Amino acid sequence: MTANLNGMTLPSWASHVEDKLAPMPLLLVQAFVDTLDRDLGTDKLAHPDEARAWLADAGLRVPDPDQPDPGFADDLRLAREARAGIQALIGRTTEPEPLTPDDLAPLEQVLGRAQPRLEIGVDGRVRLGPYLPARTLADGLLGLLLIIRDAQADGSWDRLKLCGNPDCRWAFYDRSHSRRGAWCEMASCGNRVKNRNLRARRAAVPA
Ligand SMILES: [Zn+2]
Repeated sequence: MTANLNGMTLPSWASHVEDKLAPMPLLLVQAFVDTLDRDLGTDKLAHPDEARAWLADAGLRVPDPDQPDPGFADDLRLAREARAGIQALIGRTTEPEPLTPDDLAPLEQVLGRAQPRLEIGVDGRVRLGPYLPARTLADGLLGLLLIIRDAQADGSWDRLKLCGNPDCRWAFYDRSHSRRGAWCEMASCGNRVKNRNLRARRAAVPA
């Protein structure tokens, strides 16, 4: 997979992300946050079977088939809460408010449960793992946090934003030269907010 997805087939775990795609591997962070679609009212992590399948497909939780799979309910809760925490992290790229303890708590749980380790690749590079796919959800989510860390280091993180429509909050990758993109999709979200503001202004004008 190259960093440029133009003209390429999307991985199956990202097939629900149609527009303004982040480069790999940041696309995985975007696709994870966008499993919740407020606009359509859908959530790929709502139902255990669908959530288990999506997390496995994305390499975030691929249990050893030779080992009994421990309960999924606790993992499902952590996945949803960590998604909200990572969404809050993305929000900080454009909004100045500091993260709250509620934002950070699920991510700290991930850090407490995961087992980070240094790994030496065949290319001689020393890297922090685990790499994806991961056996446990905590290791998979730590893999996401490491992708975020790398994106923060190379500057691509600042282009990953949340849609400015408070009813949407879709994570999108701003490829605009000015880096001032504010909407996941101008035709729908941006216009919807503009029309709402226009109506509010008209309503505020005394007759
Ligand atoms: Zn939007």
